[in-house]
Amino acid sequence: MREIHHWIDGKEYKGTSGRFSDVFNPATGEVQARLALATKAELDHAVARAAEAQVAWGATNPQRRARVMMAFVQLINRDMDQLAEVLSSEHGKTFPDAKGDIQRGLEVIEFCIGAPHLLKGEFTDSAGPGIDMYSMRQPLGVVAGITPFNFPAMIPLWKMGPALSAGNAMILKPSERDPSVPLMLAKLLQEAGLPDGVLQVVNGDKETVDAILDSPVIQAVGFVGSTPIAQYIYERAAQTGKRAQCFGGAKNHMIIMPDADLDQAADALVGAGYGAAGERCMAISVAVPVGEKTADALIEKLVPRIEKLKVGPWTAGNDVDYGPVVTKAAKENILRLVQTGVDQGAELVIDGRDFNLQGYENGFFVGPHLFDRVTPDMDIYKQEIFGPVLSTVRAASYEEAIGLAMSHEYGNGTAIYTRDGDTARDFASRINIGMVGINVPIPVPLAYHTFGGWKKSGFGDLNQHGPDAFRFYTRTKTVTARWPSGIKEGGEFNFKAMD
Ligand code: NAD
Repeated sequence: MREIHHWIDGKEYKGTSGRFSDVFNPATGEVQARLALATKAELDHAVARAAEAQVAWGATNPQRRARVMMAFVQLINRDMDQLAEVLSSEHGKTFPDAKGDIQRGLEVIEFCIGAPHLLKGEFTDSAGPGIDMYSMRQPLGVVAGITPFNFPAMIPLWKMGPALSAGNAMILKPSERDPSVPLMLAKLLQEAGLPDGVLQVVNGDKETVDAILDSPVIQAVGFVGSTPIAQYIYERAAQTGKRAQCFGGAKNHMIIMPDADLDQAADALVGAGYGAAGERCMAISVAVPVGEKTADALIEKLVPRIEKLKVGPWTAGNDVDYGPVVTKAAKENILRLVQTGVDQGAELVIDGRDFNLQGYENGFFVGPHLFDRVTPDMDIYKQEIFGPVLSTVRAASYEEAIGLAMSHEYGNGTAIYTRDGDTARDFASRINIGMVGINVPIPVPLAYHTFGGWKKSGFGDLNQHGPDAFRFYTRTKTVTARWPSGIKEGGEFNFKAMD
């Protein structure tokens, strides 16, 4: 069996724990490799070497560091297809979607080429008589990124780009489900000129994560994953005084007003609900049509679109709309939740439970599901399903619809479909959710804005990428300087003893 290890000090580092986790091919259900899980001692070793390497890297001028990012962009583009193939084979998402995953990470690296501008600091001339005041942005030292399975290129790139270009060293702990792309990215960064030891990829599970959280050397943790783990990491990181930003799960509502273009809304819902098998933190999992007429018409438009969805392996290229989910356990959890929906009285309009793909019977494929007449007390409404399951909650009015989204414990993304500017404006202004789409189903902000949810979708301060990332990965030092007035009226010519 092929083994996957760590990347420490610029080379593969064989793990010695004897503990491994299986990496599947989700399309076939086969184990394709086993991943070494790091011990605390291995993590501490990687951290110690990173701390040494960070000293010179932090002192390297920002423009030289940015040039490494410039070269990295070229290398990712050069190897795009190869990266996307590996990504699809471990995650299961379609080949075009895997390229999108890499592309949205690459855009953050492009943004990081401008890091010198963001690291400039501030200066006040003559803050007092003969006094100047200036603030510097300095790297934190060694920081950590802990990332989820669902974007194995994008989210590691969101972490490493800003952290490294700000002069930090980073310990990256990718998801144990699809670890190969982060390792490939680390090799490309070395080829781009990143000194060895500045980025260490340490694979592992809870044991490794806990070692990161307890490390006195690591100054900050950037986490993305499910809400219970986000909250755990946030709390435990704070106990050792770390800076932490922890992004969690989601339940994104799309409100469909009676004046919306229903064809456009139905197309958007199908893409945002079922794309990537629903394994996106910005997937729309709840449709909220306003008024019975809107709801009936929407369901009528959704059904034929959903029935046409093509589910298959990534090797079918553009011929599939979405692939398998990531593990057997994920599939079982989705089907369990679907059953609770049926048991609790929701109407299962499209039932994907018997879905079977010839030749891929052991793959982790889940057929598309559509629920109607879901109510807020049901588990399928309260919990994140993270699968190809769209729930429809009928609302009698706009106020009821916005109230639903506002009362939900998650607050990652949301969207409204309407032709009315006033409603859209009111929605964007009042909603207590971090990312809002107006006739846009998946409003993922571009690299130069910032990404982050509210409520239980995000713990800690500052968002990912954009200027916030540079605030998160640096700390401010402010200097107040007054110099004694010097000799300005000619030189002294006599040999002078020291007083
Ligand atoms: P996960 O929480 O299971 O794992 C995320 C990371 O935490 C992994 O690296 C994993 O090894 C580690 N981990 C898992 N269990 C742990 C434990 N008990 N103690 C310490 N560390 C642990 O999440 P996942 O299944 O990989 O990813 C899917 C989740 O991520 C979904 O909930 C999704 O909404 C969320 N997500 C959120 C965002 C966002 O920006 N808000 C983006 C992508 C994904």
